[in-house]
Amino acid sequence: MRRVIAIDGPAASGKSSTAAAVARAIGAHHLDSGALYRGLTRVALDLNSLDPSSIAAEAARRKLGLDHDGREIVPFLDGRPAESVIRTSEVTAAVSAVAAIGPLRDWVNDRLRAAASDDWVLVLDGRDIGTVVFPEAVLKVFLTATPEARARRRLAQRGEDSNERMLALETERLAARDALDAGRAVAPLRQAPEAVLVDTTSLGFQDQVARIVALARKALS
Ligand code: C5P
Repeated sequence: MRRVIAIDGPAASGKSSTAAAVARAIGAHHLDSGALYRGLTRVALDLNSLDPSSIAAEAARRKLGLDHDGREIVPFLDGRPAESVIRTSEVTAAVSAVAAIGPLRDWVNDRLRAAASDDWVLVLDGRDIGTVVFPEAVLKVFLTATPEARARRRLAQRGEDSNERMLALETERLAARDALDAGRAVAPLRQAPEAVLVDTTSLGFQDQVARIVALARKALS
């Protein structure tokens, strides 16, 4: 039986780094589903099109997909690791529009479901993992923090100044992306009723990881 731990939540809530740390602690595989939406967005921007068939054809031509790097499952594009080309501000600004296109969500979901296996536990983070992609997940966590706390962490992560103006701007950007992700018709960002809410506003990173590791061990036992 495929066992999945779903970690969903808004932008910059620390899902991916938390999910990776949880996976390492319990010997599971980890996959950040947002990376595939970002990869499709890179392709759409290069193509200058939002037509799903053209994007899917170009994604196939450029071999957008996933590969294993130890227990991390990572995106590849043009035969190379894709991280550096999918984390740009241009991609971040455009990704919610691409992620609202139903056929492209199906494209991503096929690849996410193919990454789960009877042979390993998969920790998967995103927006709709517990609600749509793996409703049968053994554990669902909804990770959140106040928009200001998330903006502060995002700026620190990028090594940028955390002055009032930058903080206000980043908070606004995150709120705009969350509004698009939560307001779309297909698979909107929302907490599954049975998901455990973990608010990290005043939790340290190690504490939030430890809390989810404990939940995961219990769910898997
Ligand atoms: O997690 P990250 O912020 O990198 O995700 C980028 C974007 O991909 C999100 O803002 C959202 O539009 C989309 N996404 C999604 N469903 C997921 C994961 C990401 O719609 N499961």
